[in-house]
Amino acid sequence: AKGEGRGTHRFFEPAMDVEVQARRSVELDLRTALAERQFALAFQPFLDLSDNRIAGFEALVRWHHPVRGVVSPAAFVPIAEETGMIVPLGEWVLRQACREAARWPTGIRVSVNLSPVQFRSGDIDATVIAALRDAGLDPHRLELEITEGVLLQDNASTLAILHRLKGLGVRIAMDDFGTGYSSLGYLRAFPFDKIKIDRAFVADLSLRPDALAIVRAVTTLADSMGMTTTAEGVETEEQLAHLRGAGCTEVQGYLISRPVPAEAVAPMLGSDVAC
Ligand code: C2E
Ligand code: CA
Ligand code: CA
Ligand code: CA
Repeated sequence: AKGEGRGTHRFFEPAMDVEVQARRSVELDLRTALAERQFALAFQPFLDLSDNRIAGFEALVRWHHPVRGVVSPAAFVPIAEETGMIVPLGEWVLRQACREAARWPTGIRVSVNLSPVQFRSGDIDATVIAALRDAGLDPHRLELEITEGVLLQDNASTLAILHRLKGLGVRIAMDDFGTGYSSLGYLRAFPFDKIKIDRAFVADLSLRPDALAIVRAVTTLADSMGMTTTAEGVETEEQLAHLRGAGCTEVQGYLISRPVPAEAVAPMLGSDVAC
C-alpha cells in the first residue's frame, strides 16, 4: 500500500511543482520589485458634484516590470495577498500616497486601498499613523478604502482598529458597495464616512431602470446615515446626469479622468476642471 501511495503522489507531483514554482517566481519578482522601486502610484481624481471641483485622488498601484511592462494590480495584488507581500507593498503605497498628498492644496484628499491581509497583519493602525506623521499630512485628508472582506474576517479587533483610525480624523470608505453578499449589514457594523458605489451599477444606469433605482436607494440610505456616496467607473455624460439626479456626492471615472502619474496631479488642479 505504501508503494501505491508513493506512486499516486508522484503522479501529481510535476503539476504541483509547476504551480508552486510559478507562484514562487512571482513572489521573488515582487520582492525584487519592492527593493528596486519598480512600483509607482497612479492617481485618479474624484469630482465633488456640488461644485464640480476635484475633491481628491485615489492612489492606484502600478508595477513597471522591466520585462513585462506595466502590470495591472488585478494581476499581482491577489498574489501579493497570498504571499503576504501586500503588507510591505501596502505600507509603501500608504507612505508614498501621503507624501504626494502633502504637496497638494490642503483641500484635496487622498484615498488609499487597504487589503484585508493588511488588517490581519496586526499593526495597520500604527503603520497609518507613522505614514501620516512622516509625511506631515493632516489625517482628515486621508481616506482608507476597504472592501467588505475586511469586516468579513471578524471581529472586535478590526472594528477597534477602524474606530481608532476614524478617531484620528481619517475617513473610512466602503469600496465596491453592492457587489458582496451582505453590504447592508456592513453599513450597520461600522459608521463609514463614504460609500463607493461599484461601477457595475454605474455601467447599467442607461440600460436598466433597476440600476437607477438601486443607486437612488443607496444615496438616500447613505444620506440618512450621514455618509457620502462616490460613484465609480463613470464613463458617459448620460451616466453622470443620472448620478446627479440621484443625488450622488462625488463621481469618479474615465469621463472625468483616467488615473494619471503623480506629476500630472498639480497641472490638473491648476486648470479648473469642471464637467
Ligand atoms: P478599485 O479600488 O475598485 O479601483 C478602481 C479600478 O477601476 C481601477 O483599476 C481604475 O483604474 C478602474 N477605473 C477607474 N475608472 C474607470 C472607468 O471609468 N471605467 C473602467 N472600466 N475602469 C475604471 P486598477 O487601477 O487596475 O485597480 C484594480 C484594483 O486593484 C482596484 O480596484 C483595487 O481593488 C486594487 N488595487 C489597486 N491599487 C491598490 C493598492 O494600492 N492596494 C490594494 N490593496 N489594492 C489595490
Ligand atoms: Ca478603491
Ligand atoms: Ca472600487
Ligand atoms: Ca473594484
